[in-house]
This record gives sequence, structure tokens and C-alpha cells, in this order.
Amino acid sequence: MDIMYKALIHASELITGAGVRKKQGRNITESDLNRIPDGAIVYSSKKIIWVGPTSELPSRWGSIQKTNLHHKKSIIPGLVDCHNHLLFAGDRSEEFAARCAGASYQEIAKKGGGIQSTVRATRSASLATLEKLAIQRLKELEQYGTRTVEIKTGYGLSIESELKLLSIIPRLRKRFPHLKLTATFLGAHAFPTDRTRADYLQDLLEVLIPKIAKQKLADSCDVFIDEGYFTIEEGHQLLEKAKTLGLNIKIHADELGYTGATLLAVKLGALSADHLLKISSVDIQALAHSKTVAVLLPGTAFTLKTAYPPARALIDAGAAVALATDFNPGTCYCLSLPIIMSLAALYLEMSHAEIFTAVTYNAAQALGLHPTQGTLEVGQAAYITVLPFQRFEESYYRLGWSPKR
Ligand SMILES: [Zn+2]
Repeated sequence: MDIMYKALIHASELITGAGVRKKQGRNITESDLNRIPDGAIVYSSKKIIWVGPTSELPSRWGSIQKTNLHHKKSIIPGLVDCHNHLLFAGDRSEEFAARCAGASYQEIAKKGGGIQSTVRATRSASLATLEKLAIQRLKELEQYGTRTVEIKTGYGLSIESELKLLSIIPRLRKRFPHLKLTATFLGAHAFPTDRTRADYLQDLLEVLIPKIAKQKLADSCDVFIDEGYFTIEEGHQLLEKAKTLGLNIKIHADELGYTGATLLAVKLGALSADHLLKISSVDIQALAHSKTVAVLLPGTAFTLKTAYPPARALIDAGAAVALATDFNPGTCYCLSLPIIMSLAALYLEMSHAEIFTAVTYNAAQALGLHPTQGTLEVGQAAYITVLPFQRFEESYYRLGWSPKR
């Protein structure tokens, strides 16, 4: 039976995050992290079996396969990227140049750029091309320590192409069995140019959402409620339908303008409200008194050169805050969670303990995975990240480090 189990020993530090779970990711301080110097962990392909100091490793694990980290590497719960637009084709580097020269995201979108240019490239790409691109991206983000990734659709914007994107996710799960990949349907990312607004809403409400819910093609349904995109009424209708049919819900909320989408997320019991650049103190209080996780995406604010989301106010009010890459071709071409953690430390004024919580337990909460993920405790799923540094903080103190294969 020993052959099923493996151990990592002599980690310079092992952070379990047990206290983070006890406090459900809110008001977290250093002591909630539970750092174990010279740590060890025993796990099977499915579960964590034992965690503690290497010197206390029970003798019954004496004969199992052990990897000695020689006090040079640290162990943390597998990083969770809870907001990622992984599936698209094409490139928007020209648009990046236009933005650097002063054009706004909305101006570029009006000229046919933005999401629509990626929709054209994604629709014309073959399934094999899209899958190959997704594989390359997963291989890259895995090297930065990510073990769980939310994969959004949203660059198809038609019945056929949104279903094509969703069909790639089970294939990726087979290819990356050691990663946890969740599927989020974001057909309501923008309106396509080849359907009327009313017709596309009908496609979403009457065809896509019911089919996706019935066939369990996605875990969650997300809507981009913002100025120039879906209105609060349209978003409400779509999300209500998705929720009724058993999908989890998430919202791209209050990023470009204030729409009240954060309050809608709280009202509907969404797993998360994401972006939150324009929220008010009323929204902050509402989030703090709800189970909805505030997902902050500082890489996007950095790329768009906008103000950063109010992380400090949210955390101080008692909200559960998560961080994610928002990897996408237009507003944040970044697959590295550690870079996002650097931005959080420098610009969101988050502490080490808050950053740790935001990319582990709270990010798992934002995907509804927290009952079995987000901390390194006995019985939890075995998603483990080994960092090539002696301390967790070095993974984002060393800005933009390059992983060794
Ligand atoms: Zn997004």
C-alpha cells in the first residue's frame, strides 16, 4: 500500500493556512498562516495524509518515496487563479501600442478592436489550434505555482463557438490530471456584431444557459455588467436563469463605470464579484456582510493605468478578498500569479498574510472549492505548490522571476 503515498521533507517552511480556514479568509494575520519550519507533507494522488515538522514524521511513513527539499524550497497550498480568460486565439499587441500612445480601452473597442478582434480570431481558429494554445498557457502558469485555474469562455459569442470553447475544457482536464480546472461560461462577455442585442440575449437565455446547465458543461456562469456591455437588468435576468438551473454565478462588476453590479452579486449570492474598481463604501459593506468573495485583478489596473481596487477598505471592513491574473489578450497578458502578488504588495497595500490568503483559500472560495481546497490540512485535496524559495514572500519580492523547468 505504501506505493500510493509520497512525501516531501525538509521544506525550509511549510504554510498550512489552517487558521485562514478557521476564519474563512477574513481579518487574517500572520499567526493564521501556521508556518512550520523544516516542514514535511505526506500525500496520495488525491488527499493530504499528514502535515508537520520533518522531525515528527511518523515512522510508519519510513519506507515511502520521499523528496528532500534540503531547506531550499518552501511548500504552500496550490495557488488558485480564480479569474482567467484562458481560451482565445489571436494577438492584440498592436492595440497595446495604441493604448501606450494614449487611446482608451473604450475608444479601441469602438473602432472594432478590443474583445471583438479576439472574437474574430477565436471563431476562425480550429479546435486543435485553440487547444494547443490553451496547453501552452497551462504549462506556463503551472511553472509559476498555479494548481487550480478557472477557465472562462467568452471569445466565441455565438452558440456554436461558445460550445466549441467549452468542449476544450474536458480535453484539458485529461491532459493535466494534476491540475484542477473549472469551467465558467462567459457568453455574456460582450454583444456579437452579427446578431441583434435582443437575439443574442435570447440565444443566451433560451439556448446556451439551459443547455450548459443541463449537460453540466460549466460550473459557473459569469456576466460582464458594465458601461457599453451588459446592463444591470440584462445581467440580472441572465444570472437569475443560470442560478435557477443550478449554475454558480459570478459577475465582472463595477470595473469601467458604476452599475450596481456588486450589489447584484451580493443579492443573488454570487460566488464572486470581480474587478470592483468603482465601488463605493455601500458596496464594500455589502460585500463584507455577504459570502460573495471580492476578486481583485491588479494586473488589469496596472495594464490599463487606472486606479487600483480598494483592497485595504474591503479587507478592513471584513470582506473575503481574492487575487487573480485576469489573463486575457487585451487588458492583462499575464499568466503569473506571483507578479499579481507583487502588485498587491506594492499597490494594494496588502500584507503577506492577506496575499497568501487571497491566492489560496479565498481564491478557492471564489470558485466554490474551499470545502476541499485552499489549505494544507489532512483530508484536503492534494494540490500542493513547491516554491523555489526559502520563504513564501520571496515568490513575489523577486519581481518577475523566471521559473526553471
Ligand atoms: Zn475578466
